[in-house]
Amino acid sequence: MCQAMLSPYFDDTHRLLRETLRRFVAKEVVPQAPAWEEQGFVPREVLREMGRYGFLGLRHPEKYGGGEMNALATALLAEELGRSGFGGFAATVLVHTDMASPHLARAGSPAQLERWMPGIVAGELITAVAVTEPDAGSDVKSIRTVARREGGGWRLRGSKTFITNGALADLVFVAARTDPAAGSKGISMFALEKGAPGFTLGRRLDKMGWRCSDTAELAFEDAPAELLGEEGRGFYAIMRNFQNERVALAAMAMGESQRALELTLEYVRTRKAFGAPLWDKQALRQRLAALAARIEAGRELVTRAAWLDAQGQDCVKEVSMAKAYCGELVNEVMYDCLQFHGGAGYMRGSDIERMARDARVQSIGGGATEVMLEEVAKRL
Ligand SMILES: Cc1cc2nc3c(=O)[nH]c(=O)nc-3n(C[C@H](O)[C@H](O)[C@H](O)COP(=O)(O)OP(=O)(O)OC[C@H]3O[C@@H](n4cnc5c(N)ncnc54)[C@H](O)[C@@H]3O)c2cc1C
Repeated sequence: MCQAMLSPYFDDTHRLLRETLRRFVAKEVVPQAPAWEEQGFVPREVLREMGRYGFLGLRHPEKYGGGEMNALATALLAEELGRSGFGGFAATVLVHTDMASPHLARAGSPAQLERWMPGIVAGELITAVAVTEPDAGSDVKSIRTVARREGGGWRLRGSKTFITNGALADLVFVAARTDPAAGSKGISMFALEKGAPGFTLGRRLDKMGWRCSDTAELAFEDAPAELLGEEGRGFYAIMRNFQNERVALAAMAMGESQRALELTLEYVRTRKAFGAPLWDKQALRQRLAALAARIEAGRELVTRAAWLDAQGQDCVKEVSMAKAYCGELVNEVMYDCLQFHGGAGYMRGSDIERMARDARVQSIGGGATEVMLEEVAKRL
């Protein structure tokens, strides 16, 4: 029986979902993903297929084909996608399901929801969220992209960078300044459709890892966009959605860690050195045992944070702890797991080599460890 089945947090619906996801990943992702890494994106057909399974709408209203589940479903989805061992694939999907589209789900008008939500759930319409700018990353309130009123609508001017799904998304939720003098209260969220005049794609960025995730720069020159939610509430919306995003990233990191541990256990049990399998070396075995314990701890931390969120509790401290802990831990796991693969682990094309590269961003993106620890410290 898989460990997750013994968890007090997950019920039979979760169990079934986990099994379906695991089968989908084994059949439709793992064999094909090396080719996606080469081409630099996940094919649209795979995302549509995920939509048909219902994986893209777990959190969204039933009315639009979603599952109306809570943050535990986010943690479960992220962990299973992380277990694929292809961080770029997991990021592509999770940005759509848990980082971008929740902005629409939470703040969209009935007309906006009717227009976009069915396509989002079906995987016909892929989303991105654009907050980061060349001069504003961790410090969200420093963004400079501006939105000005024109006629009955809004026009965006500025640029964004490091945007996941940036080149391929059909709909981008953009943070822009609607009042230059109002600090964090002068930021609002906008929905911007691909193909809007004045909306151009900048460079497609070449990354160390997450190779099959498309990451791009975006530029807006008086691009027409729709306000999403209330004017001046964008910073609040971003901070609120960060909770979901960070649960997803932390759980994804634990899925990746678990997969790396399994790969390494298989390897050290068969690889021989000094007349016996590597597994016979106590020093190595104990390091893997210690990692296994920490991965369990990380999973419990993030699952509990998701559960608190599902109870409607304020859990910024717990979510920040989980993001910081899991984002660092996955890197330590990859370091040791690659070490125990020896030279084979350093070779391009080996799973652990790719996973070690993919993991590096987990302590940076979606809230760097230091920023997470500040959130925790403020609440101690
Ligand atoms: C692959 C990838 C995908 C991304 N996808 C998206 C996306 O889809 N949408 C989007 O909007 N953004 C995206 N980002 C941006 C990401 O969220 C930012 O990179 C992240 O928030 C950090 O911002 P920064 O890179 O500007 O680093 P900076 O803010 O310049 O910080 C640099 C480093 O300084 C340290 N630091 C920062 N603040 C503090 C502090 N208060 N105390 C101590 N140390 C600190 C941290 O170590 C941090 O890593 C993506 C980034 C990457 C790499």
